[in-house]
Formats: sequence, C-alpha cells, structure tokens
Amino acid sequence: MPCFADKKRVVIKIGSSTLAYPETGNLNIRKSRELVEVLADLKNSGREIVFVTSGAQCVGAAKGGFLQKPKDTPSKQACAAIGQSELMKFYSENFERYNHNVAQLLLTRDVISNETRRTNVINTFNKLFELNIIPIINANDVVSIKQLDFDENDTLSAIVATLCNADLLVILTDVDGLYDGDPSLPTSNLIPEVKQINSEIISMAQGAGGVLGSGGMLTKIEAAQIATEAGIDTVIIGNKDPQLIYKLFESGDIKCTFFKGQER
Ligand code: GLU
Repeated sequence: MPCFADKKRVVIKIGSSTLAYPETGNLNIRKSRELVEVLADLKNSGREIVFVTSGAQCVGAAKGGFLQKPKDTPSKQACAAIGQSELMKFYSENFERYNHNVAQLLLTRDVISNETRRTNVINTFNKLFELNIIPIINANDVVSIKQLDFDENDTLSAIVATLCNADLLVILTDVDGLYDGDPSLPTSNLIPEVKQINSEIISMAQGAGGVLGSGGMLTKIEAAQIATEAGIDTVIIGNKDPQLIYKLFESGDIKCTFFKGQER
C-alpha cells in the first residue's frame, strides 16, 4: 500500500453509517467530531480538503420524528432538507473550532452532462480553494429524482474528485475495504490492491448497503472506476477510527483497498 504523503488535493467521502447511530439515526457526535478534527488537521498540514458527506436524510428523519429512514420520495426529500441544515450547522461550528470555514455545495447529476453547469461548479471549486474554504458536498436530494440523479454519494464523490481535479479520493465505509467474500466470515480476505476493475471484482462487491446508507460496496467500486479512469488514485478504508486517515499520509501501513489511477 503506497504512502500518500505527496497528495495535496484530497476528496474524502463519509457515509451515513459513519456519521449516525444505526439505532436512532441521530448524529454520532463523538465520531463526527473526531472526523472533523482529522480533516481540519490535514488541512493544517497544507492539503486542500473536499468533504463529501451523506447523513442528511437519516439525521433529518430522526429530527422529523420518523421512527426509521422513510422510503417514499417526498418524505426522503423532506428529511434531506431538515437534516442538511443540521449537518451544516454541525460542520460549520466544529470546523470553526480549528479556524476553518466551510461552504455547502448541493449537486445534481447534470453537472456531468450540462457543460455550463459543469463549468459553474468547477469555477466555484476553484474560487473556494483560492479563498481557503473547505467545500462540503452532498447530493441535492430535494430536487433530485431517483434513477436520474445521485441517490448515493459514492459515485457523487468520484465525480466531485474529477470536477475539482483531486489527487486522491478516500471513501470511508463500515468494512476495511473490498473482501473476496462476506467480510464477516473469517475465511474472507481483504484485497489490498485492485489493479483492474473486472467482472470478478464486481461480483465480489455485490450486496446491499447498510441500514442507513444507500450505496454498498458496488457503488464504491463504481466510484473507484470513475475516479481511476480520470487518473485519480482511490482508497476504500474502514470508518471505525477516523485517526486511521492519518496513516494514509504518514506510512501507508493500513488495512484498506487501493485502486491506482490510470496515467493522465
Ligand atoms: N444524500 C443522501 C443524504 O445525505 C445520502 C445518500 C447516501 O446514503 O449515500 O442523506
């Protein structure tokens, strides 16, 4: 596993299962704070951080009084609207503790297909980097329509990585990386590096997401494919201890799955 000490612009994607308690959907304050601290510190070390965060729907569901994350679209969209402001309040206050300012970008899939919108987003990213502000991204769930839009944030994070010309994409999840079988079985092995995303890799990744998130390993592999084809190195790592993120930049000595970006 390489060490990423020289990576300057880093996109980090966090899912709902990292940020919220599965039992209640409420924000896991301790873990979210630890994450913010690590990201703020990486920024202090001279890196540019772009933070892609899910969690709006489950935090909004808890706040809106739903007993579990709803399945119908209007309720999901209402939850996203309730939760997004809650999330941004948390991030804004907690990054501020380390003297960092944040900006919210809610994106829809037309940033890929519509040239003008794509240019607008790229220009916004560039200006935010110039202003030294941390961009925080989520899908714009309120205006998105399932099938036509981002209904998970893994591929969104890869598209963000291409839009802001990132050096590295880091996707956190509730397992240490891609396994060759069911990760909960002792007979399954972690795959440290994927040289080529082929049908064998896809079949290893098949399976649903967790209770809170919308993606699973499959959408993470799709994200890795989008990013690596654009020349961006990609890592899938476990979310249990946010401090592990440091190791990517210090020693590279970490359990994870690495996908090398193709030559640009
Ligand atoms: N945009 C959704 C949210 O913030 C998350 C989608 C996903 O789970 O990846 O709740």
